[in-house]
Amino acid sequence: MGAIIRTVRGDISPEELGPCDAHEHLFLVTPAQPGDDYSDVAKAIEEAQTLRAAGARALVDWTPIGVGRDLDGLRAVSEATDLHVVAATGLHREVHYQPDDPLRDERMEALADRFVADLERCGVIKLGASYHSLTAFEAKAFEAAAAAHARVAAPLCVHTEHGTMGLAIVERLEAVGVPPDRVVLAHVDRNPDAGEHAETAAMGAWLQLDGPGRTKYWPDSTILALIADLAARGFASRLLLGGDTGRRSMLRAYGGGPGMDYVFARFKRRLERELGTELSERIFVANPATAFSF
Ligand SMILES: [Zn+2]
Repeated sequence: MGAIIRTVRGDISPEELGPCDAHEHLFLVTPAQPGDDYSDVAKAIEEAQTLRAAGARALVDWTPIGVGRDLDGLRAVSEATDLHVVAATGLHREVHYQPDDPLRDERMEALADRFVADLERCGVIKLGASYHSLTAFEAKAFEAAAAAHARVAAPLCVHTEHGTMGLAIVERLEAVGVPPDRVVLAHVDRNPDAGEHAETAAMGAWLQLDGPGRTKYWPDSTILALIADLAARGFASRLLLGGDTGRRSMLRAYGGGPGMDYVFARFKRRLERELGTELSERIFVANPATAFSF
């Protein structure tokens, strides 16, 4: 059997994926972002429709277990928009769970079983790391994800806090049997240091940039410069790009902005103008087809 990408409406071949927003959140409910929760299916459809209209054909939803994930809702969005939607099992970083959340006490083996069961409908295993450190809860999730990966070889998609610890995460997972090229590191552009990330990419891991439109932190030009630098160092084939609209206040359907379509409608077009269509095609089409297949 050849490689597949597992979407909420069934398996597709990697060639079918098309232009992909590699990091989204159609629903998210977390104590870490009070007042910025969102869980409305109709509004998710409205927002995803704008992404589709801007040229995306697929998105990977990084909302894992226990933080408002809605697999039926994701399927409804996929049906309404005809976007391929890849869902996540796994856990987020510790700060996203209440002190009394029963998931905290679940044993590693039980978590691994839960992840494997989820992989009937989910296509990636999400993990979260803290700033320059892993809590005990996060370390347990890493172990469980590696155990699940040994049974179903889905990619591991890891939240890095401010782009820290990328190499340490890849090495830690490799030590428990997960090949670096099965690991996607998110938010690396929060730490726009091409030299550091080049070292991680040289291991074979995927570097995901997902900060377009966060103008109060950095301009899009910073992200474009990082992409250009990494491409010049020979790592164009390790790059992924997402919008990561993980707050209600970032979504137009809730009266916020810049909206889920920003990454395709604005950023991707600027990337094509400044860095060329060939690089864009690689980052938005060829790379995700490989990174998210198993
Ligand atoms: Zn995210």
